[in-house]
Amino acid sequence: MKSKVPPNVFPPLQLSAKEQQAIVDYSDELVAETLQASEDFLTHHRRFNPERWKYVKTENHLHVYRSRRRKGVTVELPHLLSLSDMSGDTSTEGPHSTSLSSADSRQDSDYLTDDSLLERARPREVPLLVVTGKMDGTVEDAAYGALADNEARWRLRDAYIGDQYDDQKILATIHSPSKDDPFRFLGVKWATRTFGAFIAQRDVVYVESTGLALSPKGERVSYILMHSYGLDRVPELSELGVIRARLSMCSILRPHSENKVEVFCRAFNNMGGELLEGVTVNIFTDTLLAVGGLVECAYVKKLKWQMSAREPEAREHATSVASRAHAPTHCATCHHSLTKFGHLIHSGAACQVCHRVICSKCSTTKRVGVDFVDGGIMQKPMEFCPECITLAKKLSAWNIALDTLPRGGSRVTSSRTTSCRSKSTY
Ligand SMILES: [Zn+2]
Ligand SMILES: [Zn+2]
Repeated sequence: MKSKVPPNVFPPLQLSAKEQQAIVDYSDELVAETLQASEDFLTHHRRFNPERWKYVKTENHLHVYRSRRRKGVTVELPHLLSLSDMSGDTSTEGPHSTSLSSADSRQDSDYLTDDSLLERARPREVPLLVVTGKMDGTVEDAAYGALADNEARWRLRDAYIGDQYDDQKILATIHSPSKDDPFRFLGVKWATRTFGAFIAQRDVVYVESTGLALSPKGERVSYILMHSYGLDRVPELSELGVIRARLSMCSILRPHSENKVEVFCRAFNNMGGELLEGVTVNIFTDTLLAVGGLVECAYVKKLKWQMSAREPEAREHATSVASRAHAPTHCATCHHSLTKFGHLIHSGAACQVCHRVICSKCSTTKRVGVDFVDGGIMQKPMEFCPECITLAKKLSAWNIALDTLPRGGSRVTSSRTTSCRSKSTY
């Protein structure tokens, strides 16, 4: 569906040092408190209090729970002009923008939510969702898949976690990947999304923070925070019929077992307008469950990195195959014949990394984002051999992320990777 929003409706933001510091402090605190909540969750043996939490759904070993409606809260809080509410019209939510009365917070007491910035930001009628469970991959894979410090990587990530935006823009970048943390990004993003003909287009302005952190036990964890952030210079687009959603999503991914990570995520989404709560929860639950796509995104980034690293080799290989003037007769992996009916029919496809020819049983097709088309990313199906797929899974996401640090930064030089990265999506 065509977006109603003119391109470049919001120019890049110039944030003052004070504004940047406020965003750094706010996002760091949100990540820190989610990390603490995830620790508490482990301490409480991963149990939810059934009086506070209701089970919603399980998919691929990830479970979603939602907070029950806050009962017995009858006293409306006064709306102070000095405090703005995320559900209100003003767009200045930020640190300590709303507060719950002590009576209110007591009634909703729960170790997963108490005294948090998140709870102060969440409108009382919007349920909090918690996702827990396991997924494949390593902490670094998840962090690499989540890294979206430029629009190409952002769109690639969207393709793997099912985010379908109409418009999207990085309005400001505060932290970029570095040698200390090649998965680090902190910035302000804006995006619009359409949900069908009968639902008004939504937009969201949020702070995104990704990277690695140390848990109190010294464990390396990956975090992904997306949290609505109000800035006067990014006003609502009500005159275009766009409703501003307010959301918060913070995931902590920690090592679980061999090639598995444990997921803990707290989130809410106030989509505004007249949407039924059930509809919002359903849409948002599916968004949250798509977190597993981050690791697949990292694998594809690593395959693309391998393709780029082996490009000179591939050119040589192509020349030598052409000079031999005949195609390989056997699969490079299982050695079964690639020809049928004598030598009349040749089958098999070349692995896009190592260029060895493999049979259809041995090859895996992956959709790889190759370029931008009409604001989206074009995905092309490509064949890979089992050895290159296994290698992609095993390759260190940290090292590859270091190798692809933005030019002019502290990029690690490599003699093998000299291709142009101006449109790099890995
Ligand atoms: Zn084979
Ligand atoms: Zn291969």
